[in-house]
Amino acid sequence: MICKLCKQDKKLIRAHLMPDSLVSRVVDKTKEGLKSIDLRDGTTKIRQTLEADKEILCGKCDSYLGLYDEKLVQLIDRWSAAPIRRIAPDKDSPARAEKIDCNTTDLLLSLAAILLRFSFSTRHEWMSLGKYEEIFSAWIKARELPQNFERYFSAIALGYAIEPACSKDSTDIIDLSKFLRQIPRGGRSGQAHQYFLELPSIFFIVKVGQGQWNFESQTNYPTIPANAQNLAIPNLPFSLTKTFREDMAKAVSLSERWIQRQHLNRQARHTK
Ligand SMILES: [Zn+2]
Repeated sequence: MICKLCKQDKKLIRAHLMPDSLVSRVVDKTKEGLKSIDLRDGTTKIRQTLEADKEILCGKCDSYLGLYDEKLVQLIDRWSAAPIRRIAPDKDSPARAEKIDCNTTDLLLSLAAILLRFSFSTRHEWMSLGKYEEIFSAWIKARELPQNFERYFSAIALGYAIEPACSKDSTDIIDLSKFLRQIPRGGRSGQAHQYFLELPSIFFIVKVGQGQWNFESQTNYPTIPANAQNLAIPNLPFSLTKTFREDMAKAVSLSERWIQRQHLNRQARHTK
């Protein structure tokens, strides 16, 4: 089968859509494991594995993308351990930020790599990067971003504080900040696509395409620059993520017609 990154006819492997190192390195370190938490009724459900797809990548390309996953997990490890996260942030005051060591170009490419895997996979029809599949693949292979990358791709990092909570299923205390959503959320917003990547302790808002940001909360937070060696991450209350989700729901559209068009575009791309 054809690998969707190197475009060569190769034996494809079972590739995780979300970096599996997020589970082994970040979530499994805690006793709660990988859980999904229903914030409304307080129930928890353990999920054993991340979603994988056997039809997108060869072993070599999967390992190559794994190098980016590693950079992302290193950032999350560092932010998870930042002392600032133990201080409950005040919801009504401006967020305090802490600078965390990271190569921001690698970080941006690691976010692009996640979106790319979801776009390569046909499991989530609405999640398609269109012509940006080619563009992101070229950046990732070159390990570089062009000077004008922000015209096509930009991201915001929002960190959140440790937030202990109780589940009604057990007496264990759960740290809500370890929450990992397995599928990005988002959709079309004007000429661009916007997605949320809800990862343990940090969440990223990503915009793909040439349209404007259409997300109210964005005005308060800077986008991630390229070529920097550290990133100032704001420390926010986990409960604020609900506001961001609501903002996102208002900002994007996921109409049936749009999903259908994404589907047809993808078919055309993959059969050329
Ligand atoms: Zn390949």
